[in-house]
Amino acid sequence: MKAGVVSVIGKPNVGKSTLINTLVGTKLSGVSPKPQTTRQKIIAIYNSPTAQVVFLDTPGVLERKINELQREMDRETWSTLEEGDLVLMVTDPTPPDERDMLIVERLREVQKPKLLAINKIDRVKKVELLPVMDAFGKLLDFEEIIPISALKVDGLDILMQEILKRLPEGEPLFPQDQVSTLPLRFFVAEVIREKIFLRYRQEVPYSTAVEVEEFREDENLVYISATIYVERESQKAILIGKGGRAIKEVGRLARQELEYLLGKKVYLELWVKVKPGWRRDVGFIRRLRLG
Ligand code: GDP
Ligand code: MG
Repeated sequence: MKAGVVSVIGKPNVGKSTLINTLVGTKLSGVSPKPQTTRQKIIAIYNSPTAQVVFLDTPGVLERKINELQREMDRETWSTLEEGDLVLMVTDPTPPDERDMLIVERLREVQKPKLLAINKIDRVKKVELLPVMDAFGKLLDFEEIIPISALKVDGLDILMQEILKRLPEGEPLFPQDQVSTLPLRFFVAEVIREKIFLRYRQEVPYSTAVEVEEFREDENLVYISATIYVERESQKAILIGKGGRAIKEVGRLARQELEYLLGKKVYLELWVKVKPGWRRDVGFIRRLRLG
């Protein structure tokens, strides 16, 4: 058997979470068009009869770190590099920019096989792709540069082959029916957070944190109670919306997805609380982190 760990790194919004969800075949990591949807390291496990690949999804490298939450996200991202047998950098089909350079600089010091996946190739023509591949190839000694589309499931077989080639032989690191090491409560919070990222604009999603306070399951129903934290009263008002309409919509979308994921009827209760400046509160940020 092949068994190993892949650290996935790249700037925000290039499709790291989408790629990992697709490869693993389950949605584990929140996906949204906004950068910085992923806040902590996520472990997603690909299992097949002949291989187990543990993917570490990261928040993505940020160029400026403004608050403690972002600093914590950044630490998490870089520490992930130490843990893998191989590094998979993901980028989009545009020439390397400053943020890519920042990552490449760090990767120079990493003595592990490095692969580059250029994602979102469904958005560009082949002639535009070649110079991008060329430019990245000159920057770093990537063992392979693989064009893919995580969304259109294009090139993923090749990518997987290249990953497997470079992983050690060994026993599985986790039971083979396990898709993550994170508790279910984490994924429940992720689903709620994703709906918030999809529903609200500008600063609001970034000012929210979700904590699942109760998760009770009986034979045919799952009861979930979660608190959404925001930093200001004005954000609370936006989150709730006129007559509670906005928060109801978030609750409805989250419940639908949770019912699908859990295969049971879900009763979801959402509370909104103001916690001024929580993004500067390391204790609070760590309390929310699971796994
Ligand atoms: P991450 O921040 O790197 O984890 O990126 P996400 O996985 O959250 O994806 C960011 C956005 O890019 C989402 O809107 C995805 O739907 C979109 N996306 C991801 N992969 C592809 C792709 O292959 N093609 C296109 N066109 N969009 C993609
Ligand atoms: Mg992500």
